[in-house]
Order: sequence, then C-alpha cells, then structure tokens
Amino acid sequence: MTVILDGKGFALKIEEELREKILSLPSKPKLAVVIVGDNPASQIYVKNKQLAAKRVGIDSITIELPKDTSDINLLNQIEILNRDETIDAILVQLPLPDHINKSSVLQAISPIKDVDGFSPYNLGLLFSGSEPVSLPCTPKGIIKLLKHYNIPLEGRNAVVIGRSLIVGKPMALLLQRENATVTLAHSKTQNLRDITKKADIIVCAVGKPHLIDSSYISGNPVIIDVGINRVEGKITGDVDFDGVKDMTSYITPVPKGIGPITIAMLLENTYELYNFHQKIRAQYGDLR
Ligand code: NAP
Repeated sequence: MTVILDGKGFALKIEEELREKILSLPSKPKLAVVIVGDNPASQIYVKNKQLAAKRVGIDSITIELPKDTSDINLLNQIEILNRDETIDAILVQLPLPDHINKSSVLQAISPIKDVDGFSPYNLGLLFSGSEPVSLPCTPKGIIKLLKHYNIPLEGRNAVVIGRSLIVGKPMALLLQRENATVTLAHSKTQNLRDITKKADIIVCAVGKPHLIDSSYISGNPVIIDVGINRVEGKITGDVDFDGVKDMTSYITPVPKGIGPITIAMLLENTYELYNFHQKIRAQYGDLR
C-alpha cells in the first residue's frame, strides 16, 4: 500500500518543537530577507516565510529593493546586514533579476549568517565532507522527512532529477552522505526512463508539470516531488501524482509536501545560527 508522506504535518511538528525551544531563549532570533523586484511568486514565498517566522517567535525584517537595483547596491545592503549584530540569518530570495550576478551575491553573504547554505564556503564544506554552518533547506528537509518515516537510504539507488545549486546538487551530496548510490540526472540525460525504473528513491526537482508519469516508474520506488508549478491557477508538482501513486511505496503530494518542510528548515536554520552566534559571542565578545 502506498504511504502519502505528510510534509505539512511533519513541518507543523518541527515548528511546534522550535516554538518551544525559542520561548526559552534569552532573546528572539532574527531573520533578514532581501527581495529584489516584484516577481509575484517570490512575493508570496517571502510573505509565507515571514508568517512562519512569526508563528515560532522569530523576528524578521524584509528589505525590498526595486527590480533595477544595481549589483553594488545589493552587495552594500548585504554588507550592512553582515555587520548588523542583531541579525542572525540572511536570505536573498531567488531568482534575482537577470542583470544581477547571482554568484557574487551568494558569495557576499557571511557564511555564519547564510541561512540557505548557498554560499561557496558552506557548499564547499558540504562537498568536502565537513559539516556546513547551514545546510540548504530543501535537501535538508527531504533527508529529515525520509528519516522521519524510517525509509532506508544506505545502499539504495537514488536518482535526483535536476542539478540546480539550490536543490539537485546538494540533494545528491546529502543522499551520498547517507550512503545511497546516487545518479544526478538533468536535461541532457539520455534514456531517463531506464535510469528511473531502476531507482529505489526518485527526487524530482525540475519545474515541469507532470514530467514524471507512469512510464518512468517500476518496482514501487519512493518518490519525492520538489516541483512547484502553476497550471491553470493551481499548484502542481513535477510528478503525475494520480497516475503514479499506486506504483510507489511512498510519495509526497504537491502542495503540502516538500514546500512546508523547506520553510520549517529555514526556521530551524535561523534558530541554529542564533545558537551558533551566542557561542561565538560567549567566546569572543562579538561576531567579528
Ligand atoms: P532550476 O534551477 O530551473 O533547475 C532545473 C533542473 O532541471 C536543471 O538542472 C535542468 O537541467 C533540469 N531539467 C530541465 N528539464 C529537464 C528534463 N526534461 N529532464 C531532466 N531534467 C531536466 O530549478 P530549481 O530551482 O532546482 O527548481 C526546480 C523545481 O523545484 C521548480 O518547480 C521550483 O519551483 C521547485 N522548488 C521547490 C522548492 C520547495 O520548497 N518545494 C524549493 C526549491 C525549488 P540542466 O541543468 O541541464 O538545465
């Protein structure tokens, strides 16, 4: 029988635990979100993140910059937040407008405030087998969800579809860290169906509605659908949920799957950065 992985329920449980822990802190953790331009989806994501922060007792501020903001202006803003002792966590909402150099922006975020774990320092630590200050939220949450449901990872064939910096690449590394045998597929992968049909676990992060249908599935795999696509006003994933559900052992829905867990991980990372900063202050007096 197929188990529907309850991402929303798991996220609420994480939030509940965080709220308790944050209540006992001497002050509130503080998250700064930087958003450039007026992309409607990004505006909704930022609003949801702020509401979630409020629910668990995290203070948040949002810095809104116009679409035509220059690189230098954005980098200056990040530097102000880096130096601000009251800020624990910095998130720059992606995507950024095309004229802005995304890598230099991610490089500018102080690694000890990098709540998304996208800075080269933190990704480098992950790549080299060390523990980063923060792990990227979506892949971190997926591993937690799989463990929550006691789904074994060691020695299993995992296929990650999509090789983005924010999901696919760190996902492949985290699954490898759990001793899965990982294939990282992308738009130039040939015979994807042959690869996915041999998978025990499939993580799909592409951004194409219903890309994965029953012709990709064999042997009751676990399916994690990261995709968020808007089709005729409705949110749908990358997987044809109704078409494949009965061919899987476990599957995440969209919505109420990986989305809420990603937000819960943002809150958890903010809390962890706060604690990390408290330790640095206890030892050195301030964050510098
Ligand atoms: P992205 O940066 O656009 O990357 C998409 C990846 O998919 C690329 O690596 C691309 O390959 C690959 N791809 C495209 N077409 C393909 C095909 N036909 N077969 C196999 N691979 C293909 O996307 P992203 O930022 O990772 O996001 C992916 C999806 O996840 C989006 O729907 C996004 O909204 C969603 N998302 C959800 C959450 C959440 O919290 N649930 C978080 C982040 C993202 P190439 O590298 O060859 O171009």
